[in-house]
Amino acid sequence: MTTVFVALGSNLDNPRRQIERAISALAKHPQLHRVEISPLYSSQAIGPGAQPDYCNAVAQLDTDLEPEPLLDLLQAQEDQQGRVRTERWGPRTLDLDIVLYGQRSVHSARLSIPHPRLHERAFVLLPLADLTGNQLLIKGKTVSQLLEKCTDHGMVKRLEV
Ligand code: ATP
Ligand code: CA
Ligand code: CA
Repeated sequence: MTTVFVALGSNLDNPRRQIERAISALAKHPQLHRVEISPLYSSQAIGPGAQPDYCNAVAQLDTDLEPEPLLDLLQAQEDQQGRVRTERWGPRTLDLDIVLYGQRSVHSARLSIPHPRLHERAFVLLPLADLTGNQLLIKGKTVSQLLEKCTDHGMVKRLEV
């Protein structure tokens, strides 16, 4: 069993509800175990043009699935929630990224793990810190060390429960 962190994001069609729906699908999935979810955050979109704010969270889970079958499952859930793939970083109902897969590095046509833009995204690092405290090492660095170098804190805020 491997512990995996998945980043969730949505900025279309009631983002908060999309995230809640995705969380409940992950929690119910028979091949995903011990699913825990961070608090929810709101962040300003980094993609092209004016876009609605995102709702973000990070899920921690255990699975026996290898990275590519896990990506298939996550992309099926994106499709299930009406994701339309248009321009890169365009608005979307649901985005599910594999941030970390145990201590494993994966570099294939379909996958880069750890997620290559993790260190520049407070909307991933803040919920990751909520889940793991400062336990986790990512390429030898703690999450707080990564957060110190991250410049987009001002664009991210925690949502009220
Ligand atoms: P970003 O990767 O900057 O967050 P994005 O999430 O908007 O961008 P998508 O359009 O959702 O990018 O995905 C494009 C492709 O990225 C996917 O089809 C998938 O094959 C690939 N990919 C590479 N690494 C990962 C990863 N760690 N998790 C999810 N998808 C990944
Ligand atoms: Ca993404
Ligand atoms: Ca993605």
